[in-house]
Amino acid sequence: MLGGIQTGKLLVTNLIDHAAREHAGRELVSYWADGTLTRSSWGEVGLDARKFAGAMRRLGMTKGDRIATLAMNHLHHLSSWYGTAGIGGVLHTVNPRLFEEQLVYIFNHAEDRVLLFDKMFTLIVEKIKPKLTSIEHYIQFDGAKAGYPIYRELVDAENGDFEWAEMEETDPVGLCYTSGTTGNPKGVLYTHRSNVIHAITEVQPDVMNLATRSVMLPVVPMFHANAWGIPFAAAAVGAKLVFSASNEASVLWKLIREEKVTHSAGVPTVWLGMFADLDANGGDYGALDMVVIGGSACPRAMIERLMMAGVRVGHAWGMTETSPIGTAGAYPANWDDLSAEEQVDVICMQGRPPFGVELRIVDDAGDEMPRDGQSSGQLQIRGPWVIQRYFQAEEDAVGDNGWFDTGDVAILHPDGTMQITDRAKDVIKSGGEWISSIELENAAVGCPGVAEAAAVGVYHPKWDERPLLIVVRKPGSDVSGADVQNYLIDKVAKWWLPDEVVFVDALPHTATGKILKRALRDEYKDYRLASV
Ligand code: AMP
Repeated sequence: MLGGIQTGKLLVTNLIDHAAREHAGRELVSYWADGTLTRSSWGEVGLDARKFAGAMRRLGMTKGDRIATLAMNHLHHLSSWYGTAGIGGVLHTVNPRLFEEQLVYIFNHAEDRVLLFDKMFTLIVEKIKPKLTSIEHYIQFDGAKAGYPIYRELVDAENGDFEWAEMEETDPVGLCYTSGTTGNPKGVLYTHRSNVIHAITEVQPDVMNLATRSVMLPVVPMFHANAWGIPFAAAAVGAKLVFSASNEASVLWKLIREEKVTHSAGVPTVWLGMFADLDANGGDYGALDMVVIGGSACPRAMIERLMMAGVRVGHAWGMTETSPIGTAGAYPANWDDLSAEEQVDVICMQGRPPFGVELRIVDDAGDEMPRDGQSSGQLQIRGPWVIQRYFQAEEDAVGDNGWFDTGDVAILHPDGTMQITDRAKDVIKSGGEWISSIELENAAVGCPGVAEAAAVGVYHPKWDERPLLIVVRKPGSDVSGADVQNYLIDKVAKWWLPDEVVFVDALPHTATGKILKRALRDEYKDYRLASV
């Protein structure tokens, strides 16, 4: 027997159509890299998306084609997302902070046909261009013309009557690479369906609490897990978006105050910078009501400061593989009965899963462990916006019954709250971005005089963690820390360079000869960098 209700498809294009139709006049703001500010609206962005789709079709782009961006947060970036969805294409956001080799690998692996880039990234584009094998069209998003077609010119040449392509909700629409701990970066291929369900979830009071009245400034970049899905969620409710191509604290505070921002979202490092600016220059929080913090654990002092200022903190956990919301800092039912300190205790944990997400913890044998608030196990997740298979992989990324192993270690509390206790992976998290310890080590052992090296993250007040390189010298060698750092300069991204190098006689190893990272982390857990 068939049900009696329509089965309309869940398409990303429906989000922009809804916003452009029902919230046409709702303002969208963009602060550009050159310091100018433009005002637009959901209606105008909807029209630009159709024009962009027309321009892409004119260039021969069609269903399934990958269109890449190397860009900060701005309104052209937004309309390119929706326009790409409209031709049935796949919008591939690329993190400009990656090291050149990784960028080349990612563009070539994705087989992108178009690259849209911000003027500030022109040098990077020109450097890697000779190694890119699939890109046919380079388009400059912003700034004065410098030898490339300009986004605005291409879009303005279209009349905007483009009819969206026929699509299925399970078709791919977005691609984002995650830098794994081992091997090459892996692509997560989002579908229309997963993005739409994620958007509908994200606006809920227990997740980001977004409504038409909300004014959201996503500090999280659009290349980091779709700016946590915010550009889709905002369209679902017609919220005002305030984009900033600059992450300077003074710019962000100005926008927060002048645009009456109620919501913001970013990694903890962003808020450290914001606090430093507030301490130096004074000022208030304007109309700020809620900030979503995730990407790495939010420090207690940060939660306390924001809560004291009357700002709700939504401490969220997620991954590129989970679109990214896995849990959010929802208030528990007894919130009002808790003391201020107990409330902070709750927010220090990573929150609860919204409907759709299921979590469990398992032991090394894969057996489920109790949700008792004490047992700590490997965190697994499943749900309609959780990865099934990496892009172009031959096997699924999930085990039996769709459980995806997150690589995180967590405790589940009886009330559903999840608490990350450890990172099974050895990556070093600096300012919300990952530094692969393995790549650092592999590069370092190439340095003359270095026998063995291990990289661990050590505490840094601004970046959360910075890499410390622990090195064993080759017999008879007098290689110095400066020698190793100089050697690494052209081997890894600048911000990956270890802050310090220490020398030891030997490193601890596992039975199979691997460096015992856990022991090293324990040994260096209280290590203080000379620079902090
Ligand atoms: P990414 O895919 O780059 O967003 O990184 C995902 C990883 O970041 C997760 O597997 C966690 O290790 C870490 N992470 C994200 N949010 C949090 C959080 N609130 N607390 C602790 N770790 C987090």
